[in-house]
Amino acid sequence: MADAIAVLNAGSSSFKFSLFAQADGRPFVVARGQAESLYTSPHFIAKDGSGAVIDEKSWNAGTKLGHDGALDHLVAFLRRRLAEHRLIGVGHRVVHGGSAYTDPVRVDESVLAALEKYVPLAPLHQPHNLAPIRTLLQRLPELPQVACFDTSFHRSQPAVAQAFALPTEITDRGVLRYGFHGLSYEYIARVLPDYSAAAARGRTIVLHLGNGASMCAMAAGRSVASTMGFTAADGLPMGTRCGNLDPGVVLYLMDELAMDARAIEKLIYQQSGLLGVSGISSDMRTLEASDDPRARRAIDLFAYRIGRELGSLAAALGGLDAIVFTAGIGENSRALRERVCRDAEWLGVQVDVEANQRGSACISTPQSRVSAWVIPTNEEITIARQTREILGARADTGHA
Ligand code: ADP
Repeated sequence: MADAIAVLNAGSSSFKFSLFAQADGRPFVVARGQAESLYTSPHFIAKDGSGAVIDEKSWNAGTKLGHDGALDHLVAFLRRRLAEHRLIGVGHRVVHGGSAYTDPVRVDESVLAALEKYVPLAPLHQPHNLAPIRTLLQRLPELPQVACFDTSFHRSQPAVAQAFALPTEITDRGVLRYGFHGLSYEYIARVLPDYSAAAARGRTIVLHLGNGASMCAMAAGRSVASTMGFTAADGLPMGTRCGNLDPGVVLYLMDELAMDARAIEKLIYQQSGLLGVSGISSDMRTLEASDDPRARRAIDLFAYRIGRELGSLAAALGGLDAIVFTAGIGENSRALRERVCRDAEWLGVQVDVEANQRGSACISTPQSRVSAWVIPTNEEITIARQTREILGARADTGHA
């Protein structure tokens, strides 16, 4: 009977899951899917490794299935589906591991209590990430669970990169630049040698451009700086988040518009970014297809800020050898990639327009001093690998 690992990524009204088994030292997907609209009109779908639907269920509109109900459905599905596999553990995506968790960790009651202390640092994500861990601890206490953090990868950054210029007593409360998207960056760092030995051992900036967007400066595959800070609202503009903002704007919103913390939270997380600037959509595909000048303005601002951050991160690295595009926009938007590369010509990037249009992995010319790459990310594999390592099983989970 083969071992299998389940990976869970839980959000506020949905979760994604996948089930990985291992063959010849490589993980492969046995099943993957999601449960969504858990409090309005719940829907569960699971597909096999080839993408064929193997289980699907919809509940009546108005059914409040919730995370627990959906988790029960998932466990029942896994039991049915797992006839040939033994579930050896569940790996969870957890957004915040604070400064304490520099590595993934097996979760028991005391670890869970420690992770709950980080809820104020990531109130929109952390509670939802932790909820299924608590439920499974209660219902299946023998099932090993591992928390894998979006912050861990960045703990290699020098102290100066993690600090705000605030009084020590505030810093000591944990008000630091943590950085996020670490599970994605770790995946890219791990596969980068397969694409370019020079990029893997050199100074590389990875651009994770999805609904959430950030950039990470890596020296020999280790994070030295990133655009996200204390929360995942910092750095680049995103689908609905504003990215970096003069703190004076927050004071202005409070004083002049009488906005409280919750109203400002909604503004900066849900109403800003590509959506806020365009007034049309948070979706890059919609904006690229639009001829509305507001859509153009939103894309212009996104590209401009990426260019500024490239310069800043190159300074943190003391030079640049390679850039890597990943996540939904980075992997798919040829136009945005070409534009970012052209804007970075001064840094030594020379884009190969045809290779970029073809969708090649390498999109820079052979003469380009800085090479440019497109590499699909895979956070789930990082979680499966970390979970397998922590559980002490065969630690040879490469990449699929
Ligand atoms: P998340 O952060 O939710 O995981 P993704 O990595 O899936 O997000 O990225 C979603 C973004 O990728 C959306 O803005 C979407 O419009 C964009 N995207 C996906 N496919 C394309 C495409 N073909 N061209 C341009 N943008 C795309």
